Amino acid sequence: MSIDTLRADFPILARQVHGKALVYLDNAATTHKPYSVTDRIVAFYENENAGINRSLHALADEAGTAYEAAREAVRAYLNAHSSSEIVFTSGTTESINLIAATFGEAFVREGDEIVVTAMEHHANLVPWQRLCNKTGAVLRVVPIDESGVLRLDSLEELINGRTRLVTVTHVSNVTGIVNPVSEITAMAHARDVPVLIDGAQAIAHHAIDVAALDCDFYVFSGHKIYSAAGIGVLYGKHHWLDSLPPHHSGGGMVTSVSLEHSHFERAPLRFEPGTRNVAGAVSLEAALEYVMALGMEEITSHEGALLRRLEEGLREMKGTTVHGEADRRCCSLSFNLDAAHPADVGMVLDKLGIAVRTGTHCAQPYVDAIAGKATIRASVALYNTRKDIDKLLDGIERAAVILR
Ligand SMILES: *Cc1c(COP(=O)(O)O)cnc(C)c1O
Repeated sequence: MSIDTLRADFPILARQVHGKALVYLDNAATTHKPYSVTDRIVAFYENENAGINRSLHALADEAGTAYEAAREAVRAYLNAHSSSEIVFTSGTTESINLIAATFGEAFVREGDEIVVTAMEHHANLVPWQRLCNKTGAVLRVVPIDESGVLRLDSLEELINGRTRLVTVTHVSNVTGIVNPVSEITAMAHARDVPVLIDGAQAIAHHAIDVAALDCDFYVFSGHKIYSAAGIGVLYGKHHWLDSLPPHHSGGGMVTSVSLEHSHFERAPLRFEPGTRNVAGAVSLEAALEYVMALGMEEITSHEGALLRRLEEGLREMKGTTVHGEADRRCCSLSFNLDAAHPADVGMVLDKLGIAVRTGTHCAQPYVDAIAGKATIRASVALYNTRKDIDKLLDGIERAAVILR
């Protein structure tokens, strides 16, 4: 399929911003939606809308069937063993908070240790800080080297008999660095420690096979892979999910309730109280279908070529610093202009219709370590073009002149 045909699936890409054609390179923050996704949401509300699991009428049955079909689609996409290992949440943030709360309640005590890394998004750092503050457990942090890459030798040393969980991002949302999550999982499993992977940045750019990775938990957000916001996934190995207590409680996650006591459903329903986001779930199914129809290999190589072009262009420019290492990168690239503040560069680019992210990207400790205060981040998706990258490079050169 030609890139123009593909881009026509995403109506927002035809927009103008400040009188200029939109160049959207903030896909690590959120992605745009193809018609197949928005059409599916409309079709759900126009034809199937109902509260599921609690009514016996036809619409409730159809909506419930659609919701479970979406769960099965996610299972197949991740190559999980069973759809009971797929919990629908509101997103990565809720998925991680759910594990921190429930895993924490069941397994983390004073003096225990949780291993995180120095490159985590705040969503995979703050919940563990809070858990440690609450329980008296200790947060151990895997450091990074000068180029922003995790130091696996340190990880090896940090895992010990008190380690209860290792958690790591699959791909950095700042530098785009891909972590060797299979290797990390094997290292932790060698000491019987379970592993949680934050897949928010990997899901739209890499084929994910949780059976092959052998990770215990894998989480992501639908909106970063072209579906609606407000839907996300927590994959957990069956025996783990089944050993965790409920998180939020209420209707739909109980088998029987008296005024004094309740009996809880098994996973995944145990973790899905309240009225569910069925439209979000079916939009995620439509998004996964869209991605599969294009083929993940195709997407990965297209996006890789864009990032390499960007990196080459930046390295040719005087007075720019690119963070991280090219051969480990996917989907995002962070850089700085030596002579200009990132926020000022972002403002110049915006006036040219170019959307990038500037600042600390919800990963302040990492950005502090690699860049000082802030970076400029460009992040690509399947609909970006070489022209987008060339316009960005052009815009950066103009910003460098204006801000000199
Ligand atoms: C975006 C992101 C999150 C948070 O995702 P939400 O959709 O905001 O919950 C967590 N981790 C990483 C690596 C991210 O990129």
